[in-house]
Amino acid sequence: MSSFDENDAFEGASLSARAMAALRPEADYLNELNPAQREAVELLDGPILMLAGAGTGKTKALTTRIAHLLNTGRARPNEILAVTFTNKAAREMKERVGRLLGQPAEGMPWLGTFHSICVKLLRRHAELAGLKSNFTILDTDDQLRLLKQLVQAANIDDKRWPARMLAGIIDDWKNRALTPDKVPTADAGAYNNKGVELYAQYQTRLGELNAVDFGDLLLHMVTIFQTHPDVLEQYQRWFRYILVDEYQDTNIAQYLWLRLLAGGHKNICCVGDDDQSIYGWRGAEVGNILRFEKDFPGAHVVRLEQNYRSTPHILAAASNVIRGNESRLGKELWTDKPEGEKVRLIGHWDGEEEARWIGEEIDAMQGGTRGVRPMNLDEMAILVRASHQMRAFEDRFLTIGLPYKVIGGPRFYERMEIRDAMAYFRLVVSPEDDLAFERIVNTPKRGLGDKAQQTIQRTAREHGVSLVQGARIAVEQGLIKGKGGAALRELVEGLARWNAMTRGPRIEIEDDAVIDDGTAPVRYGPPEVSHIELAQIVLDESGYTAHWQNDKTPEAPGRLENLKELVNQLDNFENLQGFLEHVSLVMDNEQDSGGPKVSIMTLHAAKGLEFPAVFLPGWEDGLFPSQRSMDESGLKGLEEERRLAYVGITRAEEVCTISFAANRRVFGQWQNAMPSRFIDELPEDHVEVLTPPGLYGGGQMSAGIETRAAQANVYNSPGWKRMQARQGQYGMSQPRESRNTVIDATAVASFTLGERVFHQKFGYGGVVGIEGDKVEVEFDKAGTKKVVAQYLSAKDDVPF
Ligand code: ATP
Ligand code: MG
Repeated sequence: MSSFDENDAFEGASLSARAMAALRPEADYLNELNPAQREAVELLDGPILMLAGAGTGKTKALTTRIAHLLNTGRARPNEILAVTFTNKAAREMKERVGRLLGQPAEGMPWLGTFHSICVKLLRRHAELAGLKSNFTILDTDDQLRLLKQLVQAANIDDKRWPARMLAGIIDDWKNRALTPDKVPTADAGAYNNKGVELYAQYQTRLGELNAVDFGDLLLHMVTIFQTHPDVLEQYQRWFRYILVDEYQDTNIAQYLWLRLLAGGHKNICCVGDDDQSIYGWRGAEVGNILRFEKDFPGAHVVRLEQNYRSTPHILAAASNVIRGNESRLGKELWTDKPEGEKVRLIGHWDGEEEARWIGEEIDAMQGGTRGVRPMNLDEMAILVRASHQMRAFEDRFLTIGLPYKVIGGPRFYERMEIRDAMAYFRLVVSPEDDLAFERIVNTPKRGLGDKAQQTIQRTAREHGVSLVQGARIAVEQGLIKGKGGAALRELVEGLARWNAMTRGPRIEIEDDAVIDDGTAPVRYGPPEVSHIELAQIVLDESGYTAHWQNDKTPEAPGRLENLKELVNQLDNFENLQGFLEHVSLVMDNEQDSGGPKVSIMTLHAAKGLEFPAVFLPGWEDGLFPSQRSMDESGLKGLEEERRLAYVGITRAEEVCTISFAANRRVFGQWQNAMPSRFIDELPEDHVEVLTPPGLYGGGQMSAGIETRAAQANVYNSPGWKRMQARQGQYGMSQPRESRNTVIDATAVASFTLGERVFHQKFGYGGVVGIEGDKVEVEFDKAGTKKVVAQYLSAKDDVPF
């Protein structure tokens, strides 16, 4: 390149940009690209659309383009606006740019998510939205409280018209960039004809509070740009280059915001894949990407067809599945990677067996005994459709001591709804648990605010009793008035009733059993309801289930499913107490080793990521594709589910394992499931059906399983028949009784140091410490853990 050309290339760039330029010979990173990608990187001016399938290097081209803009001095770091969907993706993008430049990409203030960028912008221009620059951002709870006040003031029956419903409607309008005056007449009937009016009141109220909700961040910025051309022009000049990843998932507000900002220079580069649009349920419009050429006439469209991520078998499987969708552009992908493993498919008896098998498989792959190269834990990921599926894996991995991390959300036992439910269970088992009481006294909302709670605390202190007792006294003495008082009475009575249900009727005993101090030992018969039923009763009667049923936010159905999963799991234990102990022990034993970990996440959170080995469990109709999504959106919903399947398979580089279970437990009851219809869409030539070792065909069904299965009428179900018919086709593990670990609480024993012992969950080990009723055991497989003595048996007692 002559020096003349070089100067030309810098035209329009500032001196400092020129000085920063040419940090690294550009040939280095450009040579890593194919010609189509290079085009997308080197054509720096004007609109560009990269519309291409998974793993074709869209994000790679996008990040290289950023590096190239910086490296050639076309733009300074703060002149580039780069938007993506998650904080994780934003961090990765920054790292990739840094790697390409050969030094950390410092000072890219405008690389981030839509929301993070809009917060910054809105702080600078708050006054144009009637706000002060220190405005607060409300969370969904605050938002709801505010809406409830407005709904009450308007004399609307919020039983029939829950405030959460209004919250959902308003979010939807905000996603569509509609301020109250712009809501179309077609929507006038929303929320019993009061929706628009309440929306307007809500916005006024937010202004008075100097607050915004999440949707406002974009809505306010779009409105400001639309009504203040001078401000818009300033940013059009400022952001000289705009880049957007995952463009197929933008909603209307995001789309308008981008179109306004790019309206001047039109230096906008959008990349995406219509086959990976998975946020329709949150207002994303795949039409945005399909309309790009109309919005930006003369746009350069780059198509990429070579996939660099996955082996041919994996790619063929993904392509075949997505072909089932009618509404798509249709793209063909190819790869020159070596053939590798076929996509592996396996059927299991139930979800616990599936988790157990995957745990073993991960172990084997780590050790390199699975026919594939040995892999690190951080090269493997489990991608689930619904977050409640994570519980089985987390439990299993905690048990065998397999390090894992949950991406994009808390771990199962750390979820809000799980902790709430457990707090109820703890109180039922032990009414002295004050921490648990504090957690649930006003959850769901019972009108027991700070003042009422202080009254309870004071009463308990004065009488030297637990909070539950204190609450009872406060109720009896009428210390808490009105609705709150009545609700507290209901809670206190409920707790007493549920606690009584943990036992059967009191057994009268004979006089000679009276011991020295004159008291008789108290004995109870076996409880009349099972602990599983009791758990359900507690969640229902306390109003906790209804609390989430009435919740209209997108997260609510998932939370209800997690609660069901919690109840399901109780089947593995004899009583609530045993279960609570299990949870506190597994959580307590858990320490962060800091080393590599298996990732567990939802398919939604996996967008844009890649892993050498991917497990896709739970491919059953109703779970995946999700029944809810099909019920709500029909064929459109099914197609979105299929796109999720495509996203899932295309995350895998070398090994992709799909599995399903014939049975899942719902509310402690077996329900049979049919293999997902997407399994039928996998191309046979590219799939290998696995048979779990030693289980296929020969497995004897134990009496216990047989009875339970018969109860659930599994064998007459079409799902089971279809499954049997397919057994030859897909490997099917036979049930194993050992899976069902009911803990034998009578196996109390005294142990000595060094003794070999057996634990139902953790397996064999040696005693290394004894502390009251807790025994510290170094387990062969699960590491060192403290366990309650009664769950251990001396090795010789193991009933095998
Ligand atoms: P998705 O649609 O899943 O977001 P994508 O199109 O963004 O995928 P990338 O993540 O950019 O794809 O790239 C997929 C993989 O292929 C990455 O590991 C990347 O480094 C590699 N890759 C991309 N382009 C090339 C290339 N030209 N030569 C070699 N490897 C490449
Ligand atoms: Mg990508």
